[in-house]
Amino acid sequence: MEIIEKLENADRLSYEDGVKLYDLDLFTLAHYANKIRLEKHGKKTYFNINRHINPTNVCKDVCKFCAYSANRKNPNQWTMTHEDILKTVKNSSKNGIKEVHIVSAHNPHTGLQWYMDIFKKIKDEFPNIHIKALTAAEIHFLSEEYDKSYQEIIDTMKAHGVDSMPGGGAEIFDEKIRKKICRGKVKSHEWLEIHKLWHKAGMQSNATMLFGHVESREHRIDHMLRLRNLQDETGGFNAFIPLVFQTENNYLNIKEALTGQEILKTYAIARIFLDNIANIKAYWATSTVKLALIAQEFGANDVDGTIEKESIQSAAGAKSARGVALQEFVDLIKNSGFTPVERDSVYNEIKVW
Ligand code: SF4
Repeated sequence: MEIIEKLENADRLSYEDGVKLYDLDLFTLAHYANKIRLEKHGKKTYFNINRHINPTNVCKDVCKFCAYSANRKNPNQWTMTHEDILKTVKNSSKNGIKEVHIVSAHNPHTGLQWYMDIFKKIKDEFPNIHIKALTAAEIHFLSEEYDKSYQEIIDTMKAHGVDSMPGGGAEIFDEKIRKKICRGKVKSHEWLEIHKLWHKAGMQSNATMLFGHVESREHRIDHMLRLRNLQDETGGFNAFIPLVFQTENNYLNIKEALTGQEILKTYAIARIFLDNIANIKAYWATSTVKLALIAQEFGANDVDGTIEKESIQSAAGAKSARGVALQEFVDLIKNSGFTPVERDSVYNEIKVW
């Protein structure tokens, strides 16, 4: 079989090859994905001690898959004050967090400075905490709303202390699917352009893919290919994070969640296909902790972090609202036969647990 020969030779795979990978059985995919994982990372599984903060759920966009935004099936609006956010960071700093991960809805009522000033305040008070903030979708929103170029927003983020960008807002790059699920949001080429500018400014970011809704397997490979092409050019992506679509409280009306088999196949294919992105993250907030642990055998070498509190995926039915305690996290990784390695936000090793 030609595809097996390519896998044996570790050849770079074309789009057509990528689609063919889905025809292979789960254990064949696991074999090749795990082989690459072991070559790159051995038995190490990375995590970080972080805190997610979602400061507002008021949004001018209306993505059909979203359960987080207040405009739709969720009538409870919130917008945190900067004092609330600082208090949250302060409390979490006592738990030893190394990163705050701040993403929000597209709130047209707060002003550009509300978004930016909080980063500066956090940096001034907690200079050792890494700030990962503002998805490309948020940058696009701020650029349109306040008539600034992407470059101006990026320069302002850097000046206010943002250290890296999260990978959200990518959803699925195929333009037709995007029109169906998130018309009005940042377009695919704009998402890629923003990350390219961020990388060219010497900064690093992550990339996500939301899967398990109305997209096909072909769309997933197309998505990964576009990321691989940009990574060839800039090398700025730290990690690829496939996000499993959560079925509750949204307008897509998807009755059946993805099977564990399809999720694991997709992790394995990501590991095989994305030969230039070092880290594949099984983000447990969308896959469940159990499946994220199994995904370690299917190419994933990162399971994100302790999170502490999570509002976006849990609004759509995920069991991630309260995070996972550090020791429990470490024990889960160890008991599944891997070595827990605490990392910082850009994958420098901090401690082997
Ligand atoms: S996914 Fe983000 S941009 Fe879309 S409606 Fe939800 S909060 Fe707004």
